[in-house]
Formats: sequence, structure tokens, C-alpha cells
Amino acid sequence: MRLLAARGGAAARAWGAGPRLRLGLCGRAGAGAGERVRVRFGPSPTGFLHLGGLRTALYNYIFAKKHGGSFILRIEDTDQSRLVPGAAENIEDMLEWAGIPPDESPRQGGPCGPYRQSERLDLYLKEAQTLVLRNAAYYCFCSPRRLEVLKKEALRMRQTPKYDNRCRHLTAQQVEERLAQGCPHVIRFRLEEGAEPLDDLVYGLKQLEPASVEGDPVMVKADGFPTYHLANVVDDHHMRISHVLRGTEWLASTAKHVLLYQALGWEPPVFAHLPLLLNKDGSKLSKRQGDLFIQNFSRNGFLPEALLDIVTNCGSGFSGNRSGRILEELISEFDVSRITTHSALLELDKLPQFNRIHLLRRIESAESRHDLVRELQALVEKVFGEKLTDGEVLCADYVERVLLHRKGHITRLLDLVSPTYSYLWIRPLVPREQIENLSSDGEKICSMVVRLFQSWPNGSVTPTELNSELRALQAQFTGTKYSVIMKLLRLALSGQQQGPSVAEMMLSLGPKEVCQRLQQAVIH
Ligand code: GLU
Repeated sequence: MRLLAARGGAAARAWGAGPRLRLGLCGRAGAGAGERVRVRFGPSPTGFLHLGGLRTALYNYIFAKKHGGSFILRIEDTDQSRLVPGAAENIEDMLEWAGIPPDESPRQGGPCGPYRQSERLDLYLKEAQTLVLRNAAYYCFCSPRRLEVLKKEALRMRQTPKYDNRCRHLTAQQVEERLAQGCPHVIRFRLEEGAEPLDDLVYGLKQLEPASVEGDPVMVKADGFPTYHLANVVDDHHMRISHVLRGTEWLASTAKHVLLYQALGWEPPVFAHLPLLLNKDGSKLSKRQGDLFIQNFSRNGFLPEALLDIVTNCGSGFSGNRSGRILEELISEFDVSRITTHSALLELDKLPQFNRIHLLRRIESAESRHDLVRELQALVEKVFGEKLTDGEVLCADYVERVLLHRKGHITRLLDLVSPTYSYLWIRPLVPREQIENLSSDGEKICSMVVRLFQSWPNGSVTPTELNSELRALQAQFTGTKYSVIMKLLRLALSGQQQGPSVAEMMLSLGPKEVCQRLQQAVIH
């Protein structure tokens, strides 16, 4: 199904639902005549998944789900020299963590596998042979040394280096002889002039002429591995990919890919190139910036929803630009015809704000709050360990109360185990003299507050009620300033001199814990 008509001006894009029939040529040839949307994310495992990769995967995922299609993960590992151990696993782990798991992948399997290119080498060689037989490709025996000389010469003449296509002109007999002698060789694709304009869903009609800017490109390298171009086209065809959504840096290669599709007698997929994702100041996001690895965001307590929200918020493809969207909303609001060619400027410094919104959302939902309670219990145990003198602070009710009272104030769950909030988990040991030193009425003040809390039905109290009661307290202890009463209570409740307001502390701790701590303070 070609989901979009040719472009006749930016506004002329409209989805057509009619099925585009194409024979299934993958392992399940002919299976299911009705074409479905099938998109893929094809990272090279040369590093762990980073924010740019997550964004490409996400747009593919959203597009697939919007159109009832499948999202495929294909590991493009044909450049064996650049493989990073663990990267392929990390990519799939992180897609799962982000809540956008592939339907077909190395881990999931699927009807068009294997999903690692290094396991599909025979297929590429077979298609490369087809190209050779059709005279669309040829063996090239030029040595790396000759290519280097060509390059140097071009640079000396201030020209763009390109292969001079010399081996195009070898006779069949010359080729046979050299192959028989075991001469090292590559297979090159014969780039012909006269490429048709490329119709991209985002960039519109693009007239690119690869033959005028480069020599015949290598399809199969001397080590027998295919290059990205061959493997990509062969796989997109055999995996029945209907739409290719990828970064705009691949746009120039696409013209070459279309020529390859033609030479192999295949219909190309529909292409949509996503504009660049840049830093806020327009500079390039580097894959090498370790802090952009998804696993680092995850370790630092950022939620997947916040990452999905921020990368789509700065990009296009949606009716409005509002933050706080979750995946279901992204899917329902996505419209590929709204993707513009403007670069997406990522405001990473706003990530904490995005996270706060999504954490609040999770806390407010009873179901996800339940998981957060468990997560926070584990975090508290991990961070405070032996310092936890009383198991009561690990009770689900207590932890849940803390979450409900702190929602909207914290940006990450981790904030709740930072020193600022340690009072929530560690009961202070404050010597009674310290309280008495602040006010000779210290003991009475503490007892009064205990009674106050005990008198509230179910211990429930609103912040306004609490604040006015605390104010009223001062009237009874005219010898002690309000600020001193607060200092005293803060000390008794947390052992700290500074921190959140006393009312806030009391609300987070809850009546039981407040009474326990104030009683404790006057016993010691
Ligand atoms: N392996 C390429 C990459 O790492 C995939 C490009 C494509 O999607 O065609 O970006």
C-alpha cells in the first residue's frame, strides 16, 4: 500500500488506505496478499542506544502502531570492525525499557528472520550475484593502493575523490582468470545516470544524481561482507518493509538505494526521512556523548515516558506542542504529514521538568503507584541499609503517603533518598537537652503537638488546618518565638536544622510517625 500520493506541494499529502499489492518475497513468499505497514529500526551495534536512536525507533514504533502494523528491529552488524560488545543486547533492552518493544527482532524472532545481518550473508551474496548476472554489478580487483593513489590525485587536483570505474571494462575472460587466481576483489554496483526523482514523505520530490558525485559503490567487500547499502536494500525487500523512516543523513544514499531496487526488479518502500535532532544551540548531538545513552538516563532515575515525550516534543509530526504526552497519546496524535524538515532542537535541560510531570502522573495512578512504592522501598533499603533503625518506614502505607505528599515536588524517585529527604527514613536521635536549650517549654510544646495530632479524626489534616494550628500554638507559649518553635519541632522531627517547612515534614511523615518522633525527643 503506498500510503501517500506523490507530492504536489506540501499540502497535497493525504493518506490513502487502499492496499498496495506486492508479492511477499521473504521466507514466507506469497503469505498474506494484503500488504501491511511494516517498519524497521536498523541500528548498527557500534555503541549503546542513545537518544537519537531512541527517537528514530520511536517514530517507527508510533507509525507502526498508528497503522496497525509491525515494528521490526534489525541489527545491522556488517561492519565487523566497529562492533561494540553488548551493544546489540543493550539496544533491544533499552527499547523494551522504553516501552516500545519490537514485534520482530533477534530476541523475539519472527517470520522474516534472522534479524542480525551477520546471519544473512548468503542472502546478500545471492542478490549480489543476481546483480552481476544482470550486468548491474561487476567484480573489481583494484588494490587498496591504487584506490589510495586515485584519492590523493583527486585531492591534489582539488576534486572530490571517486572511483574511476576502471573494472567496469574488464572482459568476462579477464574476470574469470583473476577469480581463478584467487585475486582479492569486491563487487561494485554500476551506477547509471538518469536517476528518477525520489519522492520522500517529508522532503518531497528530490532530484539526486548519485552517478555524478561518486564512483560505482562497493556492494560486497573483500571480506565477503556486504556494505550497508546492499544489506539494507536486500533486507528491506525480503523483510517486506513498507515504509522506511530514518534520519535525514541517509537521504543522499536513498537515491542509490532506489537504483538498486530497480536493478533487482523490486518496488522500493515509501521513504520518510526524519529531520536532524540537534542540541538546543543547533550543534550536533554526538553519539559519543556518553550522557546521551539511554541506560544512563534510566540509571539516573529518568522515566521512559519523559524521554519519549521530550524527543517528540522538540520534533514535529504532532498537532500541537504540549508536554506530558504518554505513548498512547503520541500514537493517536501522530500524523506523518506533519513532520517538517526543520531540525528538532532538543532542550535536554528541561528533562527534569518532563520527568516531574510523568512521575506525578505515575503517582496519581493507583496501579503504577503500587510499583513505585515497591521501587522506593527497595531504593530506601539500598541507600540507607543498616542506618534504618525502624522497619516501619518501609511499610507500604508509609511509603505511599510519602509519594502522595511529595508528588509534584520531586523530579525523580531518587530525590526521595537524597540527603534532603533522609529524615523520612531515619528517625533522629536528638538529645533532650538540645530541645530544652532551644526553649524551656520544649517538652510541653512537643507533647502539645502530639495531642493535637491524636485529636484529629483518623489523623487526617489539611495543610491549611495544620498551619493555623501551629500558629495558634505560639499563643500558648508566649515566651518562645514562632521561629524557635519551628526550629525546635524541625529538630525533633528530623534532627536537621534546615529543610522543608515543618508542616510539610509533618504531612509527609504522617501522624503516627510525628507522634512517635516527638515522644521520643522528650524521652531521651
Ligand atoms: N545501520 C544504519 C544506522 O545505524 C541504519 C540506517 C537505515 O535505517 O537505513 O543508522
